[in-house]
Amino acid sequence: MSTARIIDGKAVGARLRGQVAERVAALGFRPGLRVVRVGEDPASGVYVRNKDRAAAEAGFDSATIHLPAETTEAALLAQIAALNADPAVDGILVQLPLPQQIDTNTVIAAVDPAKDVDGFHPVNAGKLAAGQAGLVPCTPRGVMHLLADAGATLRGARALVLGRSQIVGRPMAQLLLSADCTVTVAHSRTRDLAAECRRAEILVAAVGRSEMVRGDWIGEGAIVIDVGINRGADGKLRGDVAYAEALPRAAAITPVPGGVGPMTIACLLENTLDAALARRGISG
Ligand code: NDP
Repeated sequence: MSTARIIDGKAVGARLRGQVAERVAALGFRPGLRVVRVGEDPASGVYVRNKDRAAAEAGFDSATIHLPAETTEAALLAQIAALNADPAVDGILVQLPLPQQIDTNTVIAAVDPAKDVDGFHPVNAGKLAAGQAGLVPCTPRGVMHLLADAGATLRGARALVLGRSQIVGRPMAQLLLSADCTVTVAHSRTRDLAAECRRAEILVAAVGRSEMVRGDWIGEGAIVIDVGINRGADGKLRGDVAYAEALPRAAAITPVPGGVGPMTIACLLENTLDAALARRGISG
């Protein structure tokens, strides 16, 4: 029985971080990244520390601004306005989720689109939908790198994106469409999800349901990218795809952890470098 090639996101992410670091070293200035964290959400604490560390290692001028949980929306907007106005800051990332007194969409819309390294601002989402250059959300951008690493032929391929969130599913579908895939987007109202999945030559799962995609949902020879991160009662991380069942059917697959996860931070660095170059009118 054949078994899928494992797409090593740790290695691809490390390579990408190294390439970004080399380009930063050659710049003659340090691109500035500011990560804004509000409150004490423990998972956010880990993410923010990892982002800060990776940015510093790649030669960025990186700092975290940690505001108390009771911060008002007005105070956060004032902080963002100050970062928008600061010429040393190229990238601003507001770590989600935000405390409930703060409206997430208002905050996302307050970030200067030229510094929006998360790619969540409606201007950047609109550019992506229109097929124009802009800042692209980090996780889908990372998936495109992984597909390239897997040697996937995208032109004309049948791609299925499972999930339609603003941060993963929708931008993922746009990127695959721009790469000439024939794209289907599936979600919680999709009829016969298993059959939709089975038709896909490229399957990107971003639902947040542990091992929902079973082995027999996967077409022979499909390339499977598992974005899901689900922590089980046993404390173990699992993806949205039943990995062991998928191995004999897929041509290539990302593990969880060690697949898409490491790409998200690497692409944050790539986005920050892109933003720094674009703001200075330097071609990448
Ligand atoms: P959301 O909860 O925002 O979106 C989930 C999507 O999945 C929705 O579109 C929803 O459909 C769909 N969905 C939920 N249940 C089902 C179902 N039973 N059948 C079909 N579709 C379903 O999640 P995110 O997009 O933010 O994240 C998805 C996963 O990816 C999570 O596990 C998250 O932890 C992980 N993630 C990983 C990252 C990484 O760096 N590796 C980064 C970001 C996220 P509907 O729209 O109809 O409700």
